[in-house]
Amino acid sequence: MFRFQAHQRIATFRQLVASYSVTKVQKPLKDVRYTKLFINNEWHNAVSGKTFPTVDPSTGEIITFVAEADKVDVDLAVQAAKQAFRLGSPWRTMDASYRGTLLNRLADLIERDRVYLASLESFDTGKPFTVSYHLDVGETIKVFRYFAQFADKIHGKTIPMDGPFFCYTRHEPVGVCGQIIPWNFPLVMQSWKLAPALATGNTMVMKVAEQTPLSALYIASLTKEAGFPPGVVNILTGYGPTAGEALLRHIDVDMIAFTGSTNVGRLIQRAAGESNLKRVILGLSGKSPCIVLADANLDHAVELCHEAVFLNMGQGCSAGSRTYVEESIYNEFLERAVEKANSRKIGDPFESDTQHGPQIDQKQFDTILNYIHIGKNEGAKLVSGGERYGDQGFFIKPTVFADVHDNMRIAKEEIFGPVQSILKFRTMDEVIERANNTKYGLAAGVVTKDLDKAMHLTRSLQAGTVWVNTYGMVSCQTPFGGYKESGNVKELGEDGLQAYTNLKNIIVKIPDNS
Ligand code: ADP
Ligand code: MG
Repeated sequence: MFRFQAHQRIATFRQLVASYSVTKVQKPLKDVRYTKLFINNEWHNAVSGKTFPTVDPSTGEIITFVAEADKVDVDLAVQAAKQAFRLGSPWRTMDASYRGTLLNRLADLIERDRVYLASLESFDTGKPFTVSYHLDVGETIKVFRYFAQFADKIHGKTIPMDGPFFCYTRHEPVGVCGQIIPWNFPLVMQSWKLAPALATGNTMVMKVAEQTPLSALYIASLTKEAGFPPGVVNILTGYGPTAGEALLRHIDVDMIAFTGSTNVGRLIQRAAGESNLKRVILGLSGKSPCIVLADANLDHAVELCHEAVFLNMGQGCSAGSRTYVEESIYNEFLERAVEKANSRKIGDPFESDTQHGPQIDQKQFDTILNYIHIGKNEGAKLVSGGERYGDQGFFIKPTVFADVHDNMRIAKEEIFGPVQSILKFRTMDEVIERANNTKYGLAAGVVTKDLDKAMHLTRSLQAGTVWVNTYGMVSCQTPFGGYKESGNVKELGEDGLQAYTNLKNIIVKIPDNS
C-alpha cells in the first residue's frame, strides 16, 4: 500500500509528495477505538454522561461522539496525577533511564501503528494523508525519541560556594502539569507537551482540542501499552471554557503548558494569578514576516513563501503570512506566486496528490472568508482564490492578496487560514521596521544570497526563530517559541526541558575536621 524512501532529505513540500507512492488509504471510519476519558490508565465516561461530536472537515459529517469532560472529571484526573506523583510512587522511584526506556517504547508503538495514526489524524483534521504520515507522525516519533535520551541526563551542578559547604543543585519535576493543546497539529502538539514532561518525571492531565480528540486518545492507549504507571498520563476530551478552565484554576495543578491563541493565553495567566500562581508556559499566535530581497533566486523564493503560508492550509502559528518583497522584483514575484497558488492541488485528504485539504471547522471557515471580505473592502487586490472550493466540507482556495499595506487588518491579525498577503518594500531599514511593527514575534523568514544582509536581518528581527533561505523548519532538536505576545517560553531542544523542572539548591555543612 505504501512506500517511503526513508533516507530522502525533505526540504520542500514538492519533495515530500514526490517521496511517496500512496494508493487511497481506507478511512478508519468503523475503527475509531477510543472515545472516552483516559484517567489512571482506564477509560471513563464523563461523570455527567455527556458526549460531543467530532467532525470530518472534508465532508462536515460527524465521525463519532467523545466524552465531554467537565470540572468534576478534571478533578478526578488531577487527583490521579497527584497520586501518581506522590513520594515513593512507582513513577517517583523509577530509575531515570527507565523513563527513557518507556518513552522509546512509546515511540516504537507509534511507529508500529503509523499508518493507522496518520489515517486517524487526516480523518479528524482533514490534512493530507501524505503530510500526516510523514510530517505529523514522523515528527511525533522523533520528539518522543529525542526526549527519551534526556531522561537520565538532567544534570545539576556542584557549586564552590564560599565557606565550609558542599553545594549542589537538582532539577526536580514540577509535579502535576496541566496541558492544553490546539487542533492544527494534534499529534505533534501532544508530543511536544508529553515528551519533555515525562522525561523529567512529571505527571500530567492533558485537555486536547475539542475539534481533534481522536489521535490523542489513541496515543493515550499506547502510553498504557508502553508501561507508564497509572495516573502518570491522563487525557481528557472537552471544551475550553469548561474542562480547560477547570484545569487552569485547579489548586493541585502545578503548571500549565498551553499552545493556542494569544487571547486564551491571557485568560490562562489571569487564572494562574487568581488561583495558586502556577507556572504558565505559553506558545501563542503569530503574524510572521517572510522577507524576499531582490538578489534571491526567484523560483526558490516563490516556492518558499508559498509553503510558508499554505502548509497545513495556513493553520500554523508560525505561518509566514506577511510576504515582504523588494520593489524591483515585486511584479514578477507576484505573477509567479499567483501561478503557484492556482496550481496547488485541493481535494480529498486521502488522495495521494492532494496538497490542500479543508479548514478545521465551520467557525474557522467563516472567520477566514470574513477576513477575505475585509481584505477586499480595505482595498487589497485579490489576485488568487478568495472563495470556497467545492460544495461540501470546509475547503477554501489558496488566496493571495497583492498591494497589501501594513495598516490593513489582513496584515495585522492572525487569520490562521490560506491567505497570503504580499507587501512591497524599498530599503532594508524600512522592511526591518515594518516587519517588527507587530505585537507578535514568533518567527520570521529571510530569502537572500547576500550573507551580510542576512546577518543584519537575523539580528534585527524580533522573533523567536529566524529562518534564512528556508521556512517553517521546526525540529525537536532546536528551541521553538515566541517573543512579545507570541509566547513566554522555548519548547523543544535541551532548552525545552527547563520549563518542566524546579531547580533545587542544596547546601550541606562540611564537618570541621574534613
Ligand atoms: P483556536 O482559536 O485556534 O481554536 P484556542 O486558543 O481557542 O485556539 O484553543 C486552543 C486550546 O485552548 C483548545 O484546547 C481549547 O479548547 C482551549 N481553550 C479555549 N478556551 C479556553 C479557556 N477559556 N480556558 C482553557 N482552555 C481554553
Ligand atoms: Mg474533527
